[in-house]
Amino acid sequence: MENPDRPWHGLGPEAALTALESAADSGLRVAEVEARRRQHGPNDLPEGPRRSVWRSFFEQFQSPLIYILFIAALFAFALGRHGDSAVILIVVIINALIGWFQEGRAARAMEALRRLSSPRARVVRDGEEVEVDTRDLVPGDLLVLAAGDGVGADARLVESSALEAAEATLTGESLPVRKSVETLAEDTLLADRANMVYSGTYITAGHARAVVTATGTATEMGKIARMTVESRAPKTPLERSIAQFGRYLVAGAVTLFVAVMSFGLMRGMDTVEIFMVAISQMVSMVPEGLPVAMTIALAVGMQRMAGHGAIVRRLSAVETLGSTRVICADKTGTLTRNEMTVTAVWLAPGRIIDITGAGYQPRGDFLEHDERIDPTTDPALATLLTVAALCNDARLVPPDGSDTRWRALGDPTEAALLTAARKAGIDLDDLGRCWHRHGDIPFDADAGMMATAHCDPDSGDSFVAFKGAPEAIVAMCGHVWDNGSAEPLDERRRELVLKAAATLAGRALRVLAFARVDGTGLDATADFSGFAGRLTLLGLAGEMDPPRNEVRRAVEQCRQAGMRPVMVTGDHKLTGMAVAESLGIAGEGDLAIDGSELSGMADHQLREKAGRAAVFARVHPEQKLRIVKAYQDRGEVVAMTGDGVNDAPALIKADVGVAMGLTGTEVAKSAAEIVITDDNFATIVHAVREGRLVHRNLRKVILYLFATSMAEIVVLMSALLLGYPLPLAAVQILWINIVTEGTVTVNLIMEPPEGDEMRQRPVELNRPLLSADLLKRVALMTPVMAASTFSYFAWRVSQGVPLVQVQTETFTVLAACQWFNVVNCQSATRSAFGLGLMRNRWMLGGLILSVLLQVLVLYWPPMNALFHTQPVAVADVGLMVLTASSVLWAEEIRKFFVRLRLRSAPE
Ligand code: ADP
Ligand code: MG
Repeated sequence: MENPDRPWHGLGPEAALTALESAADSGLRVAEVEARRRQHGPNDLPEGPRRSVWRSFFEQFQSPLIYILFIAALFAFALGRHGDSAVILIVVIINALIGWFQEGRAARAMEALRRLSSPRARVVRDGEEVEVDTRDLVPGDLLVLAAGDGVGADARLVESSALEAAEATLTGESLPVRKSVETLAEDTLLADRANMVYSGTYITAGHARAVVTATGTATEMGKIARMTVESRAPKTPLERSIAQFGRYLVAGAVTLFVAVMSFGLMRGMDTVEIFMVAISQMVSMVPEGLPVAMTIALAVGMQRMAGHGAIVRRLSAVETLGSTRVICADKTGTLTRNEMTVTAVWLAPGRIIDITGAGYQPRGDFLEHDERIDPTTDPALATLLTVAALCNDARLVPPDGSDTRWRALGDPTEAALLTAARKAGIDLDDLGRCWHRHGDIPFDADAGMMATAHCDPDSGDSFVAFKGAPEAIVAMCGHVWDNGSAEPLDERRRELVLKAAATLAGRALRVLAFARVDGTGLDATADFSGFAGRLTLLGLAGEMDPPRNEVRRAVEQCRQAGMRPVMVTGDHKLTGMAVAESLGIAGEGDLAIDGSELSGMADHQLREKAGRAAVFARVHPEQKLRIVKAYQDRGEVVAMTGDGVNDAPALIKADVGVAMGLTGTEVAKSAAEIVITDDNFATIVHAVREGRLVHRNLRKVILYLFATSMAEIVVLMSALLLGYPLPLAAVQILWINIVTEGTVTVNLIMEPPEGDEMRQRPVELNRPLLSADLLKRVALMTPVMAASTFSYFAWRVSQGVPLVQVQTETFTVLAACQWFNVVNCQSATRSAFGLGLMRNRWMLGGLILSVLLQVLVLYWPPMNALFHTQPVAVADVGLMVLTASSVLWAEEIRKFFVRLRLRSAPE
C-alpha cells in the first residue's frame, strides 16, 4: 500500500481516506482488516530483547553469595577435599534452580497481568462503531476519539470538534494542543501538525474521527521506541528496605566469619575445617531467598488482586495498598450504581412532579400532589423534558433477545432524561428530526454544564439548549419560565429555585437544571460566557442513583480496618451528604465541604478540616489534588479514585491512584496505580486486604529466615566457646540453609488470608522489617531451637558416640527444627493444629520435598560420602524429631496465651 512516511498532513481528509481505501461513514470492511493486519502486523511495539531462558538461569549465579561459594569450592578443591568442592557446586546449582523456577513463576504472572490491562480503541468498521484491542488497529481504520481516550495509532483527522490532545510524550509540549482538520503545508513540523493525532498521546477535550495512517513501529512513537533503550521498573519501597536489610545481614555475616575463624583457630582446630565451617555459616546469614520471596509476594499479590477485579499497573501499589489509611472515592458509579432514574421535576413557581417507574424502561406515571397528571397537556413540563432529551448524547436500547432490560448507552445521567421524556410520550426520533442539532459545547466539569444548538429546517426556528448543575445554570439565567410566561429572575425567584434544588438534593437526588436561549445558534468558537444572563430557566430534575449493595459492608470493613472512607462528588453537598449517611460514610459530627468553601480555605485550614470531612461536594477535578495533598500533609497514605482526564494529576499525586475500568478514560488509567474492573468501592477495599496479606506473608518469611539462622549460629558458637567439637560439617550447614530452607521458605508467601487482616490497623509505611513484635517471637524461637539442638548434641558427645554419627544426628535435629518452625511461622496467633494441612498446598509440597531430600542425604550411600553423613537408626529418628518439635510446643503455648488475651480483651 502507501508509503507510511507520506506527509498525510499535507493531504485533505478526503484524499487521505481515498489513499487508505477507507470511507468517512463506514470505515474499513471487516474482511479487509484481516488482510491489512497480515500485511502490517499487529499494532504494538516490540518490548526490547526478550531475556532467554538460559540467560535468566545464568543470572542466578550473579550474586555475592554464589561468588563466596565458588571461592570456597575452589579452596576445597585446591586443598584436596574434592567431595566438599563437589557438594558446594551441587548446592549452588540447586540454589540456582530454585531461584530460576520461582523467578519464572513471577515473570509469567506479571506478563499475564500486563496483557489484562491492554488499552482499547473505538473504530468504525462496516459502518458499525465497535471497540477493539488497540493491538488490532490497522492503517485505514476509522478511529472514533473523545476526551479521555488514548490515541492508539497515528491518524489523520477527518472530522473534529473542539479537539485537544496532550502530546507531551511525543513532542515535550506540556500544554494540550488544539487540533483541526485543515490541510497543512507538507513541511509542517511534527509538533505543529494540527490535523494529525499520534499514537501514545491523549485526547483531553472534544471529539473527532480520524483515519489511521500508521501502526506499530511505523508510528512516530515507534520510531522513538526503536531508538531508546528499555528502562527497568524502579524498585518499590519494600524492595529497597529488603535490599537494605540484606546489606546489614551481609555485614553481620562477615563479622560472624571473623568470629568463627578466630575462636576456631584459638581452639586449635584444623584450619581448613574451620575455614569451611566459617564460610558455610557466613553463607547461612545471607538471606538469599528474600529478594525472590519479595518478587513472588508482589506477583502473587497482583494475581490475587486481579482475581478480585483490581488490576495493578505499578508493583509498588501492592504494598502501598496495605498501608492505605484514607480512601477518597467518587460517589457516582463507585459508591452508587450510576443507574439514574428521574424521580422528580420542579417547575416554577413551586410545582413538584414525581415520576414513578424504575430503571431505563420508559414506563411510569407523573404525579402532582399524588394525583396523576397528563404530561402532554402540560406545556411547562413538556418543554422541560423536550430540552432534556435534546441536550443529550445518550441513547436508550430497548430489550433484545436474552437481555430483557432497557439499557443506557452513554452517560446514565443523560439516558435517565431520555427515559423520562419517553414516559411523557415524547417520540425521540421525531424530536431529533424536527429539531436538527447543528452544534454543541460539550459537558465541561468545571463549568458544570453543556449546551446544544438546534434548528427546525422547515420553519427556520432555532434555540440553544442548556443543562447542568443548578447553581451554574441559574447564574447564567436572566429569566425563568413561570406559569406560561418568561419572568425576570429576580433575587426572590433565584432564592426559590436554589431552595428547591436544595430540597431535591436533600432527598439524595442528583439535581440538574434546564434552560434555553431562543433564536440563536452556536459557532465553532462559542463558549458559555457568551450566553451569560441570556438564558431562560425551564426547571429542575432530580435523579435517583441507588447505592451499590456491597458498599455498606465495605464501608464498615474500612472502619474496622482503621481506614477512613471519604466521598468525593461533583454533586451538591446535600445530595452527597444524604448518600454518605445512608452508606455509613458520614456520621455524627462529620463535615461536608463543598468546592467553593474549599477554594476559600488555606492549606492549613483544609488540612485541619480534612480530618473530620466525610464528603467533598461540588468538587472540581483540580481540587481533588488539594484534597489528596491535605491528607498527605496529615501523614496519611491516600487512595483516590478517578475517571476523567482532569483527574490524572490527583491520581498521580495519590499514594494509590485508582482508575475506573468501565467508565475510566485511558488518561486516568495510565496515571493510576491500579485499575478496578467493576468501578466498585468494595473492590478497592478488597485490594487493600490483599495488600495487607502481602505484607503479612513477607513478614512471616523474614521471621522464619532470621529465627532459624540465628539458632544455627547460637549452636555453632556455643560449641566453639564451650570446648565442644564442631556440631555440623560445613556441607551440612550449607545443605540446611540452601536446600532445607530453600524448599520451604518461599511457600510462606502463598499463605492464604487468616481472616483478621481487616481487623488490624494499616501497616506503618516505614516500619522496620524486623519490627519489635517479630523480634519478640525470635526471642522465643531461637533459644528454644538452639537449646534443644545443642543439648541433644552435647548429650550424644557425652555418650562417646563417634563424631560423624553425632554430626549426622545434630544435622537431622536442626533440619527438623526448620520444618517445625516454618509451620510455626504460618500464623502468629492460630494453632498449627487448627490450620489444616491442605490450607497451603505449596507449603505441604515444599515440606514433603524437603523431608524426602533429607532422607536421601541420610540413607543414600553416595550422598553419605559427600555430606559426611551415615544412616541413622530409624528408632533414633523418633527421638531426634521429638527434640526438634520443642520449638513447635513452645510456640503453641505462646499462641495459646495470646489467644486467651485476645479473647478477654476484645478490641
Ligand atoms: P460526579 O463526580 O459525582 O460524577 P459530575 O462532575 O459528573 O459528578 O457532575 C457534577 C454535576 O454536574 C452534577 O451534579 C450535575 O448537576 C451536572 N452534570 C453531570 N453530568 C451532566 C451532564 N451530562 N450534562 C449536564 N450536567 C451534568
Ligand atoms: Mg460523573
